[in-house]
Amino acid sequence: MRIGHGYDVHRLAPGRRLILCGVEIPCEQGLEGHSDADVAVHALMDALLGAAGLGDIGRHFPDTDDRYLGVSSLTLLDRVMALIDAKGLRLGNCDITVVAQAPKLSPYMDAMRETLAARLHCDSDRVNVKATTEEHLGQVSTRGIAAHAVALLEEAGPRVKKL
Ligand code: MG
Repeated sequence: MRIGHGYDVHRLAPGRRLILCGVEIPCEQGLEGHSDADVAVHALMDALLGAAGLGDIGRHFPDTDDRYLGVSSLTLLDRVMALIDAKGLRLGNCDITVVAQAPKLSPYMDAMRETLAARLHCDSDRVNVKATTEEHLGQVSTRGIAAHAVALLEEAGPRVKKL
């Protein structure tokens, strides 16, 4: 098994859509970024690439490359999964923590898990998404949204079922 960690932050700005784990969330502000700025998927991709020993998303999808301007981060996640698949690996499980003072994310958690599980080619049981505020103490979460992710990869092969 191979473990990886990812962390990312994006600044909140008016006039942008807020997309987290591939799900659009109604909000007066969205996240700034070259792509759709889905901070949770960015952290997840870095965790996956880290576990696979494949560097980070900045190396694979540089923000100086206009091909990635406004791109859905789920499209980038598909490419990361293709790289992982090519290495003979697959997801064991992953766990994402979104750090945001607002908006309230609990109504969207199931949709986030299911959206990600479809792109990660696994059951939603292997994908955990949670959210926390920083109790108004954070510098980051009042002006932006941060995300942490860990991912476990395993050698691809038949899943061993528990009897
Ligand atoms: Mg990012």
